[in-house]
Amino acid sequence: MSHTCNYKPKIGISACLLGKPVRYDGGHKLNQFIKTNLENLVDFIGVCPETECGFGIPREQIRLEGNPESPRIVGKKTHTDKTERLSAWIQKKIMELKTENLNGFIFKSKSPSCGLYSLPVFTCNEKFQSTGTGLFTKAFIKKFPNIPAEEDSTLKTKTQLNKFLKNVFPAIKFNYMEKKMNFPDIINTLKSHSNPESIKGMARFGINPETALGVSMPTLRSIAKTAGKSHSLAEKLWSSGIHEATILASIVDDPKEVTESQLENWAHDFNSWDICDQCCINLFRKTPFAWPKAIEWSQRSPEFVKRAGFALMATLAVHDKKATDNQFNILFEAIKRESTDERNFVKKAVNWALRQIGKRNLSLNEAAIRVSKEIQLTNSKSAKWIASNAIKELTDLKVQDRLANTKNS
Ligand code: SF4
Repeated sequence: MSHTCNYKPKIGISACLLGKPVRYDGGHKLNQFIKTNLENLVDFIGVCPETECGFGIPREQIRLEGNPESPRIVGKKTHTDKTERLSAWIQKKIMELKTENLNGFIFKSKSPSCGLYSLPVFTCNEKFQSTGTGLFTKAFIKKFPNIPAEEDSTLKTKTQLNKFLKNVFPAIKFNYMEKKMNFPDIINTLKSHSNPESIKGMARFGINPETALGVSMPTLRSIAKTAGKSHSLAEKLWSSGIHEATILASIVDDPKEVTESQLENWAHDFNSWDICDQCCINLFRKTPFAWPKAIEWSQRSPEFVKRAGFALMATLAVHDKKATDNQFNILFEAIKRESTDERNFVKKAVNWALRQIGKRNLSLNEAAIRVSKEIQLTNSKSAKWIASNAIKELTDLKVQDRLANTKNS
């Protein structure tokens, strides 16, 4: 079988690891690392023994108790013995899974039903006596001893995942680390992570939800890792217009290949503050155009372009370790001038830049407080807010202590 065949291994997995709300408290244990790295390569078959056997949600937490060789499943608080019900379901489920022809199974660690390694088994007097395996998992590995099985706690690195995949399907020379995600893969993955609830949450934070899918930043970072750095991929992602794809573009792009006209085009396209900030943080600040654009954009009228100017100032204050105090002193002029812009996304960014510069070292802290006091005298609601908020943070004892103790401050 070749590396390019379309066959996808079938992997059983504890359903809570896929983000299904099946835990005793109605929550889940989404494992973003496993999901993002494997979902395009395998077909997952989610299984939740406790929910599927009818324990319900929410339910009492359970644990293993009694003879370590054949422990029983018992309610943590009520001590009700639930072994019969779960065991009956396990017998049925194991027969069902036989027809699935699974190539592997990923179990949830620390679960009395699903855990594979080192689960505590208690005595009836609630004392720890030894370690064992979850009831479902024990039956599974007994019935299918040749199906590779692991638990999430041992699949935390790409090397561990790769090793597992090789066991899962040894006929394929399978090295997913060599397989980089391309543009269609990424768009499909983003769409598969679409979450309408998150989109509502984004809108509450003032993020433009128009083309958003509701994908979280940790997921985007995980996808970016698998995609690797690529300027051409970044261009395609940006052109897609999908909210999260544009943020991803700023992570995967190679700053060495970014041109000034690209920066201008992207800034022109900004329609949401988070895209603006992510581009400045992830990409723009690493290009040779960062300093000139910070000053130039701070004078432009469009709200998000002006914001980008101040967002660049803020990120340069945090990340550009080689910059001199004088470079930052020059920026105070733009901060004073634009502090009267009443637009929310500009106001917040001006304040952000002022605070970050003022937290760089003691001398800039003094200068930023002085500038804030000047701004405070301006007859503008926005200027007064920017100044008082910045003074509060810059004069805070913790900030002052940190600056006083920082070398070369
Ligand atoms: S660990 Fe197993 S039994 Fe517990 S919620 Fe997850 S899938 Fe269900």
